[in-house]
Order: sequence, then structure tokens, then C-alpha cells
Amino acid sequence: MNPALDHIAISGIRRFNDAVAGIPDMVRLTLGEPDFNTPDHIKQAAIKAIDDDQSHYTANAGDPRLRAAVAKTWHDKYAVDYRAEDEILVTVGATEAIAIALQGLFTPGDAVLVPVPVYPGYIPLLTLNHIKPIIIDTRANDFSLTPEMIDQTIAAHSNDHIAGIILNYPNNPTGITYDADQLQALAQACVAHDLMILADEIYAELTYGAPHVSIAKYAWDHTVIISGLSKSHAMTGWRIGFLLAPAEITQALKKIHQYTVTAATTVAQIAGIEALEHGQDDGAKMRVIYQQRRDYLLKALQEIGFSAIDPQGAFYLFAKLPERFAQDSEKFCTDLAKADRLAIIPGTAFGEVGQGYVRMSYAASEENLHKAVERLTHFVETH
Ligand code: PLP
Repeated sequence: MNPALDHIAISGIRRFNDAVAGIPDMVRLTLGEPDFNTPDHIKQAAIKAIDDDQSHYTANAGDPRLRAAVAKTWHDKYAVDYRAEDEILVTVGATEAIAIALQGLFTPGDAVLVPVPVYPGYIPLLTLNHIKPIIIDTRANDFSLTPEMIDQTIAAHSNDHIAGIILNYPNNPTGITYDADQLQALAQACVAHDLMILADEIYAELTYGAPHVSIAKYAWDHTVIISGLSKSHAMTGWRIGFLLAPAEITQALKKIHQYTVTAATTVAQIAGIEALEHGQDDGAKMRVIYQQRRDYLLKALQEIGFSAIDPQGAFYLFAKLPERFAQDSEKFCTDLAKADRLAIIPGTAFGEVGQGYVRMSYAASEENLHKAVERLTHFVETH
């Protein structure tokens, strides 16, 4: 067995879900996936593909038409250019794109900067590849990373070979995102330190202020973009992700992709072509609804005594617990689930700095959000 596996802990989200499994009539604001169905026109394209016997392998890098649609989308929406022929891979969800990037970009023994709180998907893969995560605590600046934080962390780790940084924005779990000026400054710092940027932009279509800007605009040579259709088109189960990077990187990572998955599922890729060619507005419709839910939940939480920064993207609120609960997020969440049947995720699932916080997903129906607020209010009033 690979000894690194011993160092991969069970995710805090799993642990919490196990602790509260089996409680009936639970309202769950735990899920990191849209509660919408995949749009109908996308489903119809997939049904037709099955009827037409589209059952063969695609090219390893993905169906050329899908890659062309990705290239056009990134050009039109984010003004960054990637060649469909050799700078784009279609992967099995964003997860595969993250996995092959972490495996291929770095050498065992390298270190990678990880701003926290952080989506729990990266650190186990770093560990598995013998790459050292060096965390950057972003709490002092309301969870926003700054170039100074990068400089200071690198200065404090002069014995490590820091080769990269993971930058996820809009962010899971905080909802933080960055504007063009911030990204330009972050890009400058990363390039100055010769860091490869793993830019997980899977929530790019879910921003509530200014439209998303890709850091690739300012550090194209140093950036690997991770994206996909899971969040933008409510397609988590279809497992279609994208990796966009300079050809030299993409072609190297394609070897790992080829020898681990061959290619993403053909029918799902055909659905993906429909999503990008005719569903450019699908995400915008969902975004309007998410924004209403975000506004409702944020206000309700503040009234109960939770403080949360106003999230500018994704579909999560990362809220600070009232002082008397702040010692133990896991206990708070477990007690809340048992006493009032509301499941939310302890902030510690996103790193130790999440102590005192909870993550709530507002990818849930208005009815469930209302119930959640009622239950949370009752719990706080009675504990
Ligand atoms: N990256 C982030 C930041 C996520 O929140 C998620 C899912 O929650 C993923 C990647 C995984 O995306 P996919 O389902 O496309 O693999």
C-alpha cells in the first residue's frame, strides 16, 4: 500500500454526515451541488445521442466539438484564448482535472501554497502525491488572499521548494471572489515567485457582483484553469470537467488522463456540447434565484446573531457562530442536527481555521431555507 494513504483523513463533511445519518425529517443545507435539474434541452441532446448509438470512445482529450465550444466560451466570456487542438482537456468532472494537475505539475517533495479555509478536495491529493501543503490563513482579511500574504508565507518557508498555489474563486466555502485589480496583483506575486497557479474556477458562472475574471488573463503561462459543467449547468452527475493550460502542460497532463480514464463519457460530452452551444444563459437563470436565496439567508442569519461576509459568488454562506457556540463547530452542528433536525457543515471541515464557523449551502429550495431559519432560530433560542 502507498503509505501516504495513512495520512489521508476521512473528510470532515463525511464524518459529520455519518454522525447525523438516520435522523428523519432533516433539512439539509450541506450539499455542494445545485438543487436544479439539468436543463431539458441538454437532457434531450443526451437522449438523442443514445438513440443514435453514440457509444464509442471520443478522442482522449475530448470530443473536438466540445473542446471548440470550450475555447469559444472562454474567449467570449472571459477574454482568454486557448487552442481547442492542444490546450484544452475534457475531464471526468473538475475533480479529475485537479487530480491530474496536482500529479503532473509538481515533483514529490515540492510544496504548494493553500489558502484556507479550503475546499476539502485538494490536500488529500497533495498528500497522495507527496507534495507538502503550506497553508495561508486568510481570516485576518475576511478570507481574501493578498499578494503580501503570498510574499510573507514564502519568506517564512525558505527551506521549502514552493512550486505552486491553489486559488479557488468564487470560493467554496467562503463565497469570496476577486476583481480584476486584485487578480492582477495576485498574478504578479505568483509570477514573481514562479508559482504555477491551479485556478479552480468551477463557480465562475455564479458571481453576484461583477462578472468573473480569470487570473489566466494576467498570468497565462503560469495558470492551469480548472472548470466544468457541474455547477454552471446543474450537471454534477454527468461528470464533465475542463482543464485549460498552455499546450506544453496540457499535452503532458493528457498522458495521465489517457492512462487513467481514457476519455470522459461520450454521451455526457455530447450533452456538454449542447450546454455550451445553446445553454449559455442556463447559469444566469439559476444565478438570479441563488442571489435571492443568498440575500434571504444572509439577513436571517444576521438577525439570529451570526455574522457572515456577503458572499460574492458560489452558493455558500460561511458564517461565524455566536460567541457562546464558537468553541466547537462540530458539536454545534451535531447538536443542531439532533435537536432541531437541521444539517449544516462544521467550518473545521475546511481546515482548522474554520473553528467557530459553519458552512450553509443555499442551493436548496425556498421552503427548505425557511424551515432551516426557523429551526436554527429555535435552536439558538433554546441553547
Ligand atoms: N472544486 C470545487 C471548489 C468544488 O466545490 C467542487 C465540488 O463541490 C469541485 C471542484 C468538484 O467538481 P466536479 O463535481 O466537477 O468534480
